[in-house]
Amino acid sequence: MSFAADLRAVLADDQVLDHPLDLHVYAKDAGVTPGIVAAVVFPESSEQVAAAVKIAAKHEVPIVARGAGTGLSGGAVPTRPGLIVALTRLNQIEEVDEAARTAWVGPGVINLDLSAHTMPLGLHYAPDPSSQSACTIGGNVGTNAGGPHCLAEGTTVSHILALELITAEGEIVMLGGAEPDPLGLDLVGVVVGSEGTMGLVTRILVKLTENPPEVRTLLLAFDSIEAAAAAVSAVIAAGVVPAAMELMDQPMIEAVENFKSCGFPITAAVLIAEVAGHPAAVDSEAAVVAQAGRDAGATEIRIAATEIERDLIWLGRKSAFGAVAYAAPDYYLHDTVVPRTRLVETMSAIYEIGARHGIQMLNVFHAGDGNLHPLVAFDAKEPGMLERVKAAADEMVRVSIGVGGALSGEHGVGLEKRDLMGEVFSPMDLDAQARLREAFDPKGLLNPDKILPEGSRCYDFGLVANLEPDSLK
Ligand SMILES: Cc1cc2nc3c(=O)[nH]c(=O)nc-3n(C[C@H](O)[C@H](O)[C@H](O)COP(=O)(O)OP(=O)(O)OC[C@H]3O[C@@H](n4cnc5c(N)ncnc54)[C@H](O)[C@@H]3O)c2cc1C
Repeated sequence: MSFAADLRAVLADDQVLDHPLDLHVYAKDAGVTPGIVAAVVFPESSEQVAAAVKIAAKHEVPIVARGAGTGLSGGAVPTRPGLIVALTRLNQIEEVDEAARTAWVGPGVINLDLSAHTMPLGLHYAPDPSSQSACTIGGNVGTNAGGPHCLAEGTTVSHILALELITAEGEIVMLGGAEPDPLGLDLVGVVVGSEGTMGLVTRILVKLTENPPEVRTLLLAFDSIEAAAAAVSAVIAAGVVPAAMELMDQPMIEAVENFKSCGFPITAAVLIAEVAGHPAAVDSEAAVVAQAGRDAGATEIRIAATEIERDLIWLGRKSAFGAVAYAAPDYYLHDTVVPRTRLVETMSAIYEIGARHGIQMLNVFHAGDGNLHPLVAFDAKEPGMLERVKAAADEMVRVSIGVGGALSGEHGVGLEKRDLMGEVFSPMDLDAQARLREAFDPKGLLNPDKILPEGSRCYDFGLVANLEPDSLK
């Protein structure tokens, strides 16, 4: 039987797509690189995911998990004719345990829907990517997603207790557990952020976080991006770790104001800071943030006085990427991390790179984490433009690595940064990662060509002779 016929033998007709027009829709995520799709399936249970994986394994077809496809690094894009396993129909919030503050959810649950569901219980799911109204919890697990409020709460990995995983062989296994520190290796930690290369996640036990009793949201205006960046370090140095600290530059502020009119001051930079906690603490913490901002040269400081004012500040921040659609037909959103103390010099270097390549750049980023998101607005139809944008991106990544940063803060490595992995990891590091991956996926069918560059196994490099024999055992 053909591959599609085999799939249709275990799934209903409306659960399998193989028409070229449909496949074209699934050939990209929110990044800029298209892939090649052999078929798309929409399983409705863990057993159906396992059955589809077994069929793909029998036909030796690569298997690529997909959530909402909002990923920006090509993670959900097959590089060779592959089976997309779209997990969006596994979207049940199965069980909320109010006392334990946990919930079992399907990977297709939309991030924001989970918090909306638990809000009446005084609980929410803390990781809040700016794409949270569209992206799925499964995709968040795949990329170890972050968000504005991950500064104090930690990224996705800090909020996952257990995972049901479909292995490369189509077996259903459970990793982790409800207890705080399950025995054995931390395989949940291995799978979170592995971008579908270790298995397909079909159920997730998440931690829920108590809604803070009180919140203060501040908006600080600065007449230079460097002053705003300096304020970020000053706040933390003053002893306060806010729930969130987000920075926007003038081109981004203007784009947001044109789009949503949130009342942001048109100035070189705004810093949004939020402190959350006990009513007695938030006012004094807000005062510390305001003073650090004043010392760094803030020209205006607003503290949201009502829920509406707070919502407007966050609407402005979370509409930033949507606003860019009005600036140009295409965008390329970068993602690097630098130590917070190196923000000022890194931002200067990034503006210099943008100017030298003649690209239109807007910045909005998780400043408290040092997680930069230079966003280039461009028209891909302009000859040579995409190449210029990518060349500038590589330079920005190298600058970030040069000051002690990392390749990706939250979007993942995917295809986008795969070939830069050798700049941060030694051949031994890459080999160790490749071997771990082989342990989960001996035939290399789970999202091949992602994360690790070709030749990551040391024997592929011909390096075996240079290594201590013990290190290869
Ligand atoms: C406007 C915009 C704003 C964004 N803001 C943020 C932000 O603030 N923080 C942030 O971290 N990201 C952000 N992103 C990127 C993106 O939304 C996140 O990476 C998100 O986690 C992807 O979720 P998804 O459901 O769309 O996954 P997809 O894009 O479908 O997949 C992402 C990766 O996870 C894997 N995967 C998906 N589901 C599973 C599964 N069930 N099991 C195993 N692997 C799986 C895929 O194979 C792929 O490698 C933003 C994107 C956009 C477009």
